[in-house]
Amino acid sequence: MSLLCSGIGVGVSRAIAIGPAHLLKSGLIEVQPSTISAKQIDAECESFLQAIKLARRQLKAVRNKIPASTPSDISAFIDTHLLMLEDSALAEAPLELVRIHCLSAAYALQVKRDALVKVFDEMDDPYLRTRKDDVDHVVNQIQKNLRNLGMDVTSTPDLQGRIIIASDLTPADAILMGNRGVAAFITEYGSPMSHTAILARSLGIPTIVGVHNATRYLQQDETLIVDSEQGIVLADPSWDIIEHFNQRIVQQRYHEAELQQLVNKPSRTLDKTAISLQANIELPEDIDATLTNGAVGVGLYRTEFLFMNRQQLPDEAEHYATYKRVTDGLNGIPVTIRTLDLGADKQTEEGAGLCTPSACNPALGLRAIRLCLKEPELFKPQLRAILRVAADAPVRMLIPMLSSMHELNAVKQLIEEVKQELTKEGLSFNPNIPLGAMIEVPAAALSADAFAKALDFFSIGTNDLIQYTLAIDRIDDEVSHLFDPLHPSVLRLIKMTIDAANRHKIPVSMCGEMAGDPRYTRLLLGLGLREFSMQPGALLEVKKIVRESDLPQLIRRTEQFIKQIDEGPADKLWAMLASGLE
Ligand code: PEP
Ligand code: MG
Repeated sequence: MSLLCSGIGVGVSRAIAIGPAHLLKSGLIEVQPSTISAKQIDAECESFLQAIKLARRQLKAVRNKIPASTPSDISAFIDTHLLMLEDSALAEAPLELVRIHCLSAAYALQVKRDALVKVFDEMDDPYLRTRKDDVDHVVNQIQKNLRNLGMDVTSTPDLQGRIIIASDLTPADAILMGNRGVAAFITEYGSPMSHTAILARSLGIPTIVGVHNATRYLQQDETLIVDSEQGIVLADPSWDIIEHFNQRIVQQRYHEAELQQLVNKPSRTLDKTAISLQANIELPEDIDATLTNGAVGVGLYRTEFLFMNRQQLPDEAEHYATYKRVTDGLNGIPVTIRTLDLGADKQTEEGAGLCTPSACNPALGLRAIRLCLKEPELFKPQLRAILRVAADAPVRMLIPMLSSMHELNAVKQLIEEVKQELTKEGLSFNPNIPLGAMIEVPAAALSADAFAKALDFFSIGTNDLIQYTLAIDRIDDEVSHLFDPLHPSVLRLIKMTIDAANRHKIPVSMCGEMAGDPRYTRLLLGLGLREFSMQPGALLEVKKIVRESDLPQLIRRTEQFIKQIDEGPADKLWAMLASGLE
């Protein structure tokens, strides 16, 4: 048995998985042998040609986005890839295999790729040998396009119960593979606060990120144990170790069954203070988990998924239909729809018609509301749809990443324009929709009083608030150990935001990952937070702590905790938190 021990990886959830390894080497899309019927040949060839055409458009879009100051060999790379797309070995030869041997387009491309790569492998020239990476890059893009065109569904390998090992995963990968029943994810890069990790947590898939060299050391099909609470991967374990972890899985299920008893119990502290526990969702499909875990509302509906994994931007009708599905599914439970937060860790497909420049520092770049204000034609259909859906359901609108009143005023002006348009068109909408801000940039927390006067509610986004306060890139595994929710500056900003909201009598909730981490529940209650929004799977664990909490005592102890935090050694503070601020 070998052990890739804790410290190498960081667990992003609190679950265990046991299963066979499935390696996704260098992100290459894997394709299994598959054939089609003679009747499907023409359609298959047409899809292949479309996928090539799309790949060309995507590469050209990337090339157009390269800043002028970039060294010329970078754009030369793209030109090489474009030339490869013109080469008959990739662009035409697979079609012969489809026509003559009835292979699926995806598999035919795979066969031709393998043949090409073999030629490169046999070359003596080390430079030419590395060109196979270019082939793989281009092939991968075509395979992705075929997948998006729905062409290789039957040819993808069976991932049920498997533990995926990849260099890195996009949020879209996590969703697609989650739907195919994977048991766990292990990635070489990425951090627990990336959007992919947040999704994996929300899907309940045990995940460990930042396990460097995992694709080199772990073997295809070998049995693995993933303990995502400890951040441990065990490879090829003995039977007694498997038995031990099986026992822990049983205990975990027992604990979950116990928590289920709390679903219909009120969420209030021992002194009967009501605490609102709400869910974070990303897709209409998350409604089930929201309801079965007893959430009293959706505190954060992330809408980026409407824009991901596709080639065309959604129009107003699609926005409206999707939000309507959510409000209908929630059946009167309030929902807070967040406007688009694309950029940084939430990207669209290349060539999707949306220009999010590949800035050197995307987290500080044209992200979220900055992008929306720059591209009103992208933003307006979403604003219209949210206003319209709010006509018949309790919907609030939440703006991400606001950093100045100037931006807020620009948003309000745009909303006013949209309202006038809707009035002119005779479409019904809610003119009094509550408007709130994500407080996730330190500037917004420091100006919380001004924002509170101009808004109906706040939602604290600790994932970004911590990233921007501590200058820690939330997706960089090299610095993820410095991502510290207990940093005095972070706690002060949270407290300032809660206090400002209370002064101005507007509701304040927290929807960052900190809100769903039971280790922080008592501290947040002590800081004055009364509304929490989190991935649905965490609701009952947090509710249990809420119900056991003595609020007046927590408030007293939190004051002490905050006083000590500047001097107190971190381990002592953690011990205080672990013992429930006793
Ligand atoms: C946050 O930043 O805390 C948040 C909830 O938003 P996201 O994770 O989607 O950036
Ligand atoms: Mg955020």
